[in-house]
Amino acid sequence: MSKAMELIRALPPKWNPLSKLPEDDELDVIPGTGSQNSALFDWRLTSPGNLAEAFRIFTEGETNNELPTRQWDQNIDPSGNTAGAGIHFPDDTGRDRAIKIPQSLKQTNQTGEIIAIKETLEMVDKDLALHLYSDSRTFVQGLTKHLPAWEDRDFIGVENEEELRSTVNVLQSRRAPTTLEWVKGHAGIDGNENADCLANEGRQKNQEDTINLTLDPQFKLTGLRLIKLTQSLAEKAIKREKAKSASYQRKIKRRATTQNIGRAQECAAEINGKTPSESLLWKSIRHRDITRRIQFFLWMMCHDAYKTPGYEHRANCQFCHVPETMEHILLECSCPDQQTIWNLAAQLWSHQETQWIAPSFGTILACGSINLQDSSKKVLPGESRLFRILVSESAHLIWKLRNERVINGTEPPNIDRITKRWRAAIEGRYKIDHVLTSKRFGKRQLSKQTLRGTWKNVIRDRDKPSPSPWGGTGVLVG
Ligand SMILES: [Zn+2]
Repeated sequence: MSKAMELIRALPPKWNPLSKLPEDDELDVIPGTGSQNSALFDWRLTSPGNLAEAFRIFTEGETNNELPTRQWDQNIDPSGNTAGAGIHFPDDTGRDRAIKIPQSLKQTNQTGEIIAIKETLEMVDKDLALHLYSDSRTFVQGLTKHLPAWEDRDFIGVENEEELRSTVNVLQSRRAPTTLEWVKGHAGIDGNENADCLANEGRQKNQEDTINLTLDPQFKLTGLRLIKLTQSLAEKAIKREKAKSASYQRKIKRRATTQNIGRAQECAAEINGKTPSESLLWKSIRHRDITRRIQFFLWMMCHDAYKTPGYEHRANCQFCHVPETMEHILLECSCPDQQTIWNLAAQLWSHQETQWIAPSFGTILACGSINLQDSSKKVLPGESRLFRILVSESAHLIWKLRNERVINGTEPPNIDRITKRWRAAIEGRYKIDHVLTSKRFGKRQLSKQTLRGTWKNVIRDRDKPSPSPWGGTGVLVG
């Protein structure tokens, strides 16, 4: 906890999720407009909530804080549709605009609506209070209500992501209050009818308008909120970042992923006697002996994708005061977590007939493709399976314990507690295996032979000292 606070305090004010800007308090004292369809835009950049909610994931593609200006001659909409946007100023029609949405943007009504909002915001003096009407319920509610949730997921999966980011950026740069009000479209409301005509006019123009989606870095807040991070969201975030920037992709691929895959291949080759192909290795990360959650953990680890705020320059380990890499956490740290857990795994393995292979970083990544063999090079399926389970579960538990300490601030490591957690994790896997032998699992059913092959030497009945594990009440020996 104190380590986490230290990290947070090291951040500049804009990124410090706990800091307040002087004007943040004003928001509470501005009166509403009275209409239930209108709401005030909340311009605060800071993150409310407790410490655990304050972590954001920062992605490498964003470090220069600017998106490139669009290339207008690319991405012609294949549908052949065209979209327009209309802006009407009731008191100053000389400023009205009919915009033709450039083909580089998605040609939908929704794009027209958000561009109209954004362009209006840019046309009005930042120091003047603005009341803006739009017939887009999506964006009026989105900008005034759903924005915190959208920002938490870094706009992943939100329609018109780029236009929205740019709109929010302008909104946040305004110095006077902005209110947005939804009005029903095509309902004969004067101002709305005018804007609609202008949008039609815009659509039919020959010349596209230039829409600048560059963001002012000063008001840009990026990053996924860590507490909202799910597996699917993280995978999407990584996919998006990779797609966004070729240099990011090259960098990540060459520097981290390729290196990690190489290390995994080497370790697998040493144990299996032959080098698995890259694609086989990727597949093995999804091996069915590894739980879904840990498959994700290994996948992230392989991409060197675990980053937390402040880790652009990686923080030092609180125990060893050296840079805290994943390898350090899992294998080198002087903290009792990793040492205790790997000792427990080795101890349990002493009941097997083969020698324990102390895992390296590469072995952990490759654990799904490891095939242990006897002296005559015959593959031992049961032993291999137990090895995969032990290595994957142990590595993941070390990572989990470390996060609980850093993020939730639980008490310092304690060998008894670590031992209990590890035994519970491995026994849990045995219990799942036991349940999976039931016929009702169909294709996913585990054969009794596999169950025995995996656990025969390391599980005993709760009440008997000798190995006899097949009642489903098995506990680990020792
Ligand atoms: Zn350490």
